[in-house]
Amino acid sequence: MTHDPNCLFCKIAQGQIPSRKVYEDDQIYAFHDIHPWAPVHFLMIPKAHIASLAQVDGQHEALLGRMMTLVPKLALQEGCNPYPEGGWRVVTNTGAEGGQEVHHLHIHVMGGPRPWFKG
Ligand code: AMP
Ligand code: ZN
Repeated sequence: MTHDPNCLFCKIAQGQIPSRKVYEDDQIYAFHDIHPWAPVHFLMIPKAHIASLAQVDGQHEALLGRMMTLVPKLALQEGCNPYPEGGWRVVTNTGAEGGQEVHHLHIHVMGGPRPWFKG
């Protein structure tokens, strides 16, 4: 598994920088966003360093599938309300024009009662 020693989210996934853990398995780590935009706001990352969604290809199909299929379970576990009255938003900012600030692939999962700080 590849890591970038200068990457914030690699350090978080490896426990070198503290975070509030939501979930962990051999390939995936999830933790609360430090500046939440919504009552529930956590991030899911691959433990391996992938800079963004722009670097993803066929070899990542199973990993991305696992991440996406974990979203409903973790969203409800963290306090999002059930579909359809509740629900959540999934966002992956990609590149400068996509609003990406941390260049390690991550999925934002946001939910909880409105209004939210952004959106
Ligand atoms: P993005 O703009 O999509 O790259 O989002 C990066 C997200 O990482 C932002 O929502 C930040 O609040 C969040 N973030 C930055 N540093 C940390 C940290 N140390 N722990 C948890 N979340 C962080
Ligand atoms: Zn990284």
